[in-house]
Amino acid sequence: MRQFEQGKLIHVLSERQLRERVFIIVQEVRACYSHLNDPYALARELGYKVVESSSASSPMFEGASLDHVIFLRTYDCLNEERKRFTLYHEICHGLLRKDEWFWSVLHDQFKSDRDFSYVKERLCNIGAAEFLLPRSSISNILASEGVSVAHISKLANQFRASKLATAIQIADCATHECIMVVATRMLDFTQNLSRLIEFPGSNKPRLVVEYSMPSTTTKYKVARYVPIRSNSIIASAEEAPAGVMLTGRDLVPFKFRTRWEVEVEAVRLGSRIYALFNLKPPQPVDDRQLSLF
Ligand SMILES: [Zn+2]
Repeated sequence: MRQFEQGKLIHVLSERQLRERVFIIVQEVRACYSHLNDPYALARELGYKVVESSSASSPMFEGASLDHVIFLRTYDCLNEERKRFTLYHEICHGLLRKDEWFWSVLHDQFKSDRDFSYVKERLCNIGAAEFLLPRSSISNILASEGVSVAHISKLANQFRASKLATAIQIADCATHECIMVVATRMLDFTQNLSRLIEFPGSNKPRLVVEYSMPSTTTKYKVARYVPIRSNSIIASAEEAPAGVMLTGRDLVPFKFRTRWEVEVEAVRLGSRIYALFNLKPPQPVDDRQLSLF
């Protein structure tokens, strides 16, 4: 889409178009350096010096890129899969900046520093996930094995990626209407800030939506931080042993929308619960047999 603003014609890209552009940028680099599936080697090939340090100015710091140096924190809590993701994320910062057309479109579209920075960080996360878990490979696997939370652990191990990145990429590659919801216990800061009087127990972490990812054909979104009902399949999966998948019908945890009950599967892996809400039934799997029709 194009729109006029202060006499200047600017491109306005939808979220989907922004994501597609990042996929193209990453796929082009992968095609040039197809022998490199190691972010350290790729960073070197692209002319970056990777400096690892165990000290950081901020506890939130995981990585940063400056000209031709990428700084990476090497805390014990940052495991190898997280370091690989962070390094690809920093590589994406450089790749996005290099795409002059895309960079100027982003600047035109997101005027405030806060919005620009937020979108840029998200796009770099999307690029890092694409480096780790190429959509072409994931789509092929899902076509033969079906879209399910049951594949998260196996694929995360196979692609040396986090379970969270794997779950998000599975939903992004699904061809039917579905939403992946990732829930975890978090402190409800917003509620506490608005309270003048502290209630006992108000600091207890609540089970909320941490992330969600609709498939490309899905028009609906589940908002972050929506509380999860205690009688939901997600809450039951939290109580169930890790890795045990529950299936059934439940309401999609929309913030405002009216009730919509669909088929769901949910599994707890570590402290997170991954739930796939199938708004439409998944496509039958391709069993590699010759189709007569
Ligand atoms: Zn960043």
